[in-house]
Amino acid sequence: MNETYKQTERDGRDDESLQNRQDSYMSPDEIIALKANYFYPNTMHFYQNPPHIVKGEMQYLYDHMGVKYTDFFAGVTVLNCGHSNPEILDAVHAQLNRLQHTSIIYLTEPMVKLAKALAEVLPGDIQSTFFCNSGTEANEGALLLARMHTGKKGFIAFEGGLHGRSHLTMSVTGIPMWRIDPFLEPDVYFASCFTQVGMSSAAASEVALEEIQSILEAHGNEIAALIVEPIQGNGGMNTPPSDFFVKLGKLLKKHDVLMIVDEVQTGFARTGSWFAIEQFGVVPDIITYAKALGNGIPIGAFSARPEVAKSFNKPSASTLGGNPVSSAAGLAVLDYMKKGDLCGRSKVLGEVLREGLETLKKKHNLIKDVRGMGLMQGAVLDADAGATVDVVLEEMKKRGFIIGKNGLHRNVLAFQPPLVIEEMDIKEMLIALDETLSALPTA
Ligand code: PMP
Repeated sequence: MNETYKQTERDGRDDESLQNRQDSYMSPDEIIALKANYFYPNTMHFYQNPPHIVKGEMQYLYDHMGVKYTDFFAGVTVLNCGHSNPEILDAVHAQLNRLQHTSIIYLTEPMVKLAKALAEVLPGDIQSTFFCNSGTEANEGALLLARMHTGKKGFIAFEGGLHGRSHLTMSVTGIPMWRIDPFLEPDVYFASCFTQVGMSSAAASEVALEEIQSILEAHGNEIAALIVEPIQGNGGMNTPPSDFFVKLGKLLKKHDVLMIVDEVQTGFARTGSWFAIEQFGVVPDIITYAKALGNGIPIGAFSARPEVAKSFNKPSASTLGGNPVSSAAGLAVLDYMKKGDLCGRSKVLGEVLREGLETLKKKHNLIKDVRGMGLMQGAVLDADAGATVDVVLEEMKKRGFIIGKNGLHRNVLAFQPPLVIEEMDIKEMLIALDETLSALPTA
């Protein structure tokens, strides 16, 4: 494996004195109080005793007291190249010093270079790209393009899918807790999730395909596109069987319904390939992505095959989309991923993580299933084990590991570390998880 990043020392605390820290940083309680006063009451945070994170260094985070954590959530699958990756920061700083913003109505170089570099890694003949600022915006744009291309209005989406916070993207989101608008679009047909409790994924995906077939037969002439995550991240790492997308693609083609693949979580080497959909043997009509392309700098985009892309021919512009700084970050990310073979790294280390979690599943009854691909893995607990998941997160934090949670019932432990993580980090996390699960009162 090609190591292109700097190894950080596992020293527990960094060098700032405790007194300096207490003087210069807010306490977690102060931040919580300010949030309560100045944010809407809708924002939440992980942990009963949340750390105040002040520094990131590749796969490690540090809190305001200097305590070091190994990060297994990567800011929700954003920091694939690691926190404050020096090579990416250099590219961003250089661009910031040269030219920060003009808007897409002027000619600048980084945006077109990035679009060209993306075309080289995007699946099949997907070539045209529209840049925006987030995953929500990318999906909103993709849904719009599908309507413009087909002249049809409706959509098919999956229960367990998450696609964003705007009106249309929330309307196609299939997780009840994220569907907060009381007046969502009516023209969305939901199919069951391709993972169901008590069913094999082959059986569950057949149920979903049958439902989609019925929806298409009844409403195919009103439906523009189906939108799907190749692995449902927020829904709980729900992973379809390997033949699912080929079967799905055939159904959609028959009814002239486009396939939009949302790779906001799964994109950019996360699952062992540039995009997860490559491992399922289909080329979608439109693909959306965000998060890891900027490695922490806001960026989003949707890209389409030439046949579909040509329908996006009425004026549209995003003020900050394609700005030189985000584009420079994106170019540096692609470069770094190629040089460090992060796809290969995710595959190999993903196997280490998967095997370790499978071993823990055999030992701890609490773990009912392990699923995912590459360095996107989930350990599924019972549907009513949401409170236990919170205890595990808290205990793992005390042991120096930040892990995530997701799932329809917030019952899935999520492991999506920066792809620059070391095998040793994974093994240490697995030991800590074993200890944590063994110490639970229910174990
Ligand atoms: N799609 C998926 C699969 C996501 O996981 C998310 C957010 N976690 C989004 C879309 C929305 O992205 P953003 O928060 O950047 O708007």
